[in-house]
Amino acid sequence: MEKKYIAYFSILLVGLLFIIRLFYIQVLDSKYKGSPLNNSAVTPKYDYPERGFIYDRNGVLIVANQPSYDVMIVPRDVKPLDTLEFCKLLKIDKEDFVGKYKKAKKYSPRLPSVFVAQLSKGDYAYLQEKMYKYKGFYIQKRSLRQYPIKSAANVLGYISEVTTADLNNKNYQQGELIGKNGVEKEYEEALRGVKGVKFIQKDRFNKVIGPYKGGEYDTLAIVGKDVNITIDIKLQKYAEDLMANKRGGIVAIEPSTGEILALVSAPTYDPNLLVGRERSKNYNKLDSDSHEKPMFDRSLLAQYPPGSPFKVLNALIGLQEGVITPETHFYCYGGFRYGRSSKAFMACHCGVHGAPIKLDMGIYRSCNSYFANTYKKIIEKYPTATEGMKVWSNHVKSFGLGDFLHNDLSTGRRGVVPDEKLYDRYYPTFKWGASTTISNAIGQGEILTTPIQLANMTAAIANKGYYFTPHIIKKIDNKPIQIDKFIIPNKTSINKEHFTPVIEGMYNTVEKGTARWSRVEGIEICGKTGTAENPQGQDHSIFIAFAPKDNPKIAIAVFVENGYWGSRWAGPMASLMIEKYIRGEVSRPREEKRMFEGSLREEYDKQLLTEQLEKEIKEKLKKELEEKAE
Ligand SMILES: [Zn+2]
Repeated sequence: MEKKYIAYFSILLVGLLFIIRLFYIQVLDSKYKGSPLNNSAVTPKYDYPERGFIYDRNGVLIVANQPSYDVMIVPRDVKPLDTLEFCKLLKIDKEDFVGKYKKAKKYSPRLPSVFVAQLSKGDYAYLQEKMYKYKGFYIQKRSLRQYPIKSAANVLGYISEVTTADLNNKNYQQGELIGKNGVEKEYEEALRGVKGVKFIQKDRFNKVIGPYKGGEYDTLAIVGKDVNITIDIKLQKYAEDLMANKRGGIVAIEPSTGEILALVSAPTYDPNLLVGRERSKNYNKLDSDSHEKPMFDRSLLAQYPPGSPFKVLNALIGLQEGVITPETHFYCYGGFRYGRSSKAFMACHCGVHGAPIKLDMGIYRSCNSYFANTYKKIIEKYPTATEGMKVWSNHVKSFGLGDFLHNDLSTGRRGVVPDEKLYDRYYPTFKWGASTTISNAIGQGEILTTPIQLANMTAAIANKGYYFTPHIIKKIDNKPIQIDKFIIPNKTSINKEHFTPVIEGMYNTVEKGTARWSRVEGIEICGKTGTAENPQGQDHSIFIAFAPKDNPKIAIAVFVENGYWGSRWAGPMASLMIEKYIRGEVSRPREEKRMFEGSLREEYDKQLLTEQLEKEIKEKLKKELEEKAE
């Protein structure tokens, strides 16, 4: 019986394979062979459409085009020429000429490829008149990017010549341009448009005889679509100016939509540097700067411990789990003791000694003891620390932390939200618990967040319990984008009513607490300062905020590397941006000037010096050891 089945199957299988092979030969292969591109008597002539423009949320033009001219070669058509004269015209030497010719021939003797890319306008005008002398060469017009506002380089990305990997994609030919990074990459298809092509028939003497098959295969170019992104370019540029001579990331989001208003990474660069003939030279320079890292988008990729802003999340979890109410109080005696040894002490500088501290004051004075107590109660509510940690971790993750946000930005990082599995790995033989993991109470320890994650968390608080996936696209071809994942709210695991007392605490933080210097007359700002310990140097300055308190228009997270503490740099910057966005102007010119002119360069140079010294010492030690060994 079984044997019979096997025989059946074998016959069926062989038959199936034949059918597949037949289909391949008859349909796919013939289609491939029938393409005029594979007919050696046919030459394609491409017509490149203009790439779509990019506008900001208010219709301000941020990316336009400028014409560019490439000298193209079809090696088969090249006739003997005065190489010396031609090289002089192209501003290359003979060696270059030979190399380029060989490369083009290797790619295809018959298909056009770029010989010299991106001529200047002057060179083009001059060369155009002489081109008739050089058979097999012609000039191809393309368009290059142009940035009227020197801003948002990290958001926009750039375009550059296709790589071999891109070439495997049928839509691209050698020498064509493609979006890399940012909006240019993510919305390449819309922006690029469709190139047109004319197939020209040649006779066996390589003379043009007319359109191939009467133009049956020819297509017209379709212009690229314009795109509006969610960025407010005025706010973006303002934030970049505030971050001059500092390092870090700023992300601002509109809570009611998830639209990204500003996405700032500092230091940044002028996007015009990555256009034209100097492109690869400039790119290599920017890319190899391992100290400043201008190509590293800190707003999306830098993972920092969130520090004190994370306390508001513990407050929300404590309320949701019912282990605290807004009336619950704790005492702080300069810190929190979590074990018997003298080291098991978390210091606190809230300055409230011996008086009961409730939720509101716990937030606005940023008391470590208050949140250590709350965190301990959350974990210890459950029979085992494993269960407690699982519950806590899931609440934290519901705010979009510890995972990719699944947005339309070309890059991102997960960050880290510790869970029970992580601690089991850390302590395989030790019975860990709330005390072991107490740093989680104040946003230190294992937790890592990117600026965009923290801004998104702030938006979720502003919305009292949900967030829209942060995104960058607003309109394509002037039509508003309706993508499900951007319009369906993501709910957090915290009930709406618990947000009210926490938001009150954040409001008081700016009214009379740790961020009172960032208060703006007439705008109700809710915020939380933070300082994240940094073993490599000065602490990082952090601030999260949203405003106004009712009907929030903007939620923001600011990270300034080595900025000492939250209210020194991050707080003032966030409040200036909020005022600028809501009112269009700022009322505190002195504060603004202090931020524009303030520099942390000395701090960064010190760090570089330390790194160099460490390297030297290490090398010296290594040498000594080697000598000893000898
Ligand atoms: Zn305290």
